[in-house]
Amino acid sequence: MSQVQAFLDQLYHELKGVSAGQVASYIPELARANPDWFGISIVTLDGHTYEVGDVAQKFTIQSISKVFVYGMALEDYGRDQLLKKVGVEPTGDPFNSLIRLDEDSKRPENPMVNAGAIATTGLITGADLADRLNRMLAMFQRYVGNEVFVDVSTFISERSTGHRNRAMAHLMLNFGMIDQPIEDALDLYFQQCSVLVTAHDLAVMAATLANQGVNPITGERAVGANHVRDILSVMYTCGMYNFAGEWAFRVGIPAKSGVSGGILAVVPNRAGIAVFSPLLDGHGNSVRGLKVFEALSRQYGFHLFDLSLGRCNFTQT
Ligand code: GLU
Repeated sequence: MSQVQAFLDQLYHELKGVSAGQVASYIPELARANPDWFGISIVTLDGHTYEVGDVAQKFTIQSISKVFVYGMALEDYGRDQLLKKVGVEPTGDPFNSLIRLDEDSKRPENPMVNAGAIATTGLITGADLADRLNRMLAMFQRYVGNEVFVDVSTFISERSTGHRNRAMAHLMLNFGMIDQPIEDALDLYFQQCSVLVTAHDLAVMAATLANQGVNPITGERAVGANHVRDILSVMYTCGMYNFAGEWAFRVGIPAKSGVSGGILAVVPNRAGIAVFSPLLDGHGNSVRGLKVFEALSRQYGFHLFDLSLGRCNFTQT
């Protein structure tokens, strides 16, 4: 067995008993998650997959979708146009906060918090709502390498309880940051959050970003190479809720987490890594997920500033 696989197995067994944290419950469908679910998947660009645990368990992608829809908006609009509507500044606030929206520029701070994500989704082009959804699903499919589906009950659950998101959309409509009909932007946003994935899928998606936008398994391009740097930059500064600075300090690679318990992270030019474990800490990040990434970063030296010092030994098995 490879050393990487042996290390993953050991980590899995060490951390599987960690029971701190809570399953997200603000959307009724998320509260049904099994707190024991735990999977780790690593897909390297040189063709290896190392996995352990519940890596085939499906769950809704939630906020991790924001990364990929941002990439799509960069392709549809170009960087300069998109920057006029959605900034790239970390907030230090919770993902669903409204407090900064009414300040200064009226422009949502970044595409990884809900306001910025809803504005970004509102920009996705298409003939009608169905066409926009189909374009979005086709984009996710290029990253995953398989068909993807929206979990309808989560979508309905999100739509019927998403009052804060609806309030943000109304504010942004008032500021001219998104256009009518806002219900379309919201529906598309709730649908993107409800796309079903596995930890393995997330690792392949991350590996695609690590590989300059080309899915390393299928060879298909998912996003233009010229947009990958921008996507990874906002992930690095804004991807881990109001823990992004701590994450950058401790783990040191671009990542995004979601309230269903996924964390996806990119080791540029080397690998994609994903962890799925639904028990969340107070910031909304997976408790076991954070522990896995801290241990992996220490073990393999893939913090970006370790990489820049040539310390990473990640692909040596
Ligand atoms: N669907 C969620 C919401 O907008 C996404 C939350 C998340 O994963 O951060 O409330």
